[in-house]
Amino acid sequence: MNILSYRGPATAGGVSTALARINASYSASTGSGESRQRWWYLDKNSLQTRSNTDSEIQEVVKIPQKIVQGHYRYCNNFIWPILHDLPQYATFSREDRALYQQFNVRFARHFMKATDLRHSGLCFVNDYQLAITSGLLGNSPQLDVILFWHVPWPKAVSSESRPYLVEIAEGLLGAVRLGFHTAEYVHNFLAFVHENMPTYEVDFADQIILSKVDGSVSTSVIACPLGLDVDFWAKKADAASPVHKDIDVSKMVTDSFVLSVDRADYTKGVIERMQAIDLFFAAHPEQKGKVSFVQVCQPSRTGLPAFDQYWLDASGMGAELNRRLGTDQWKPVVWIDKPIPPLTLAWLYKKAATMMINPLRDGLNLTAKEFAVCSQKGAILLSPEAGVWHELGSECLPVDTDSPKQMAGQIAASLAMSEVDKRSRLNTMKRKLHQNTLTSWWRKFEGGMLASQTVATIAQPSIRRRARL
Ligand code: UDP
Repeated sequence: MNILSYRGPATAGGVSTALARINASYSASTGSGESRQRWWYLDKNSLQTRSNTDSEIQEVVKIPQKIVQGHYRYCNNFIWPILHDLPQYATFSREDRALYQQFNVRFARHFMKATDLRHSGLCFVNDYQLAITSGLLGNSPQLDVILFWHVPWPKAVSSESRPYLVEIAEGLLGAVRLGFHTAEYVHNFLAFVHENMPTYEVDFADQIILSKVDGSVSTSVIACPLGLDVDFWAKKADAASPVHKDIDVSKMVTDSFVLSVDRADYTKGVIERMQAIDLFFAAHPEQKGKVSFVQVCQPSRTGLPAFDQYWLDASGMGAELNRRLGTDQWKPVVWIDKPIPPLTLAWLYKKAATMMINPLRDGLNLTAKEFAVCSQKGAILLSPEAGVWHELGSECLPVDTDSPKQMAGQIAASLAMSEVDKRSRLNTMKRKLHQNTLTSWWRKFEGGMLASQTVATIAQPSIRRRARL
């Protein structure tokens, strides 16, 4: 199977890491050392490829820097905030949109040129950066595309943004199977296509979208939240962590702390959290010196003004809280601005009294799942706007990101929760996570297509779709 991903295996959190782990388990399960995955991805300005059984990396083609940069800006200045229902952060550039299109066309064209299409079969397309690529590949009669959309689909889209989202949706409909994390995102997508794309017929009951132009072209849309490699995290939590190498704990209350793990991204609600921490200490001065807030948070999407400003504002608020409230022995906010390895994260998850996850909107949020596996007696504060709310929300304390005061109250409530209550909620969450592991997620998502494809595409081309252009 070909995996087309903006970034290479395991280079960025979330789906890319997850796929790389599935990668390992697939080659182990074939037992033959046979290559079951070939990755295609961007590294700097170069489209590269490598297989899962061979560490050799081949350069397919250089992509001009102007195209790479314009694509990056369009993805993060425009598509990202629109998909997260945060249009107030969006800036649109016609030129960058054209560069996004060109990037996708080059990605698709050079992938097809470099691939023996008779033997290529199934393609997994990952990332919103490659939406148009998916549509272009879907037009090839030899290829079946499956696509996992690991960000939300918006609830509402303004009339100005609509044509650009139609273009993205058209790309997604190049897939025979399209996965989202939640039933809400599936519904949002089906409704969007129904309302804005008259050449498609939407079957809401069966979650199938059919082309009215070519009846053989259809997309099955499923809700399939990304599973967690539960054993990986459980083992990390059991291991002794060299935490002191990665974190300065000298002014941290290590036996009572509230943990958050985010990128500096306005979707994550870091600024709202800093406001809530301030209100928490104002309402509970007796907690000064007794609780720390550990904030793992690094800059994200650097070079783009909205993200750079967010980093400055959020980290500035943390520093200001420390100046105003901290002492020689204690920091209210222990800010960790470097990426930390899973072993250290697992130690933090295991020891934290509370995990605070309050995104304004988030595709899934894997850290909630990782915490639930590693924690022994912690509580989770969770915003209903996180995709993971649909799986774990009933065992978490809800936080309202519009109200730092409500969040401050919930921080206090989580710290006062009984150990019995916390353990019981954690046990329920662990049970749920064992029912949706990374491997079971993948099996559900690919739905047996891989097995049928590796045989069928060698003998005969796919007849599932016909070229539309
Ligand atoms: N992560 C990490 N080191 C860090 C911070 C985060 O390895 O210093 C990992 C974390 O374990 C999780 C991923 O990055 O698997 C973040 O995924 P999530 O869905 O929470 O957020 P995203 O960044 O994908 O929006």
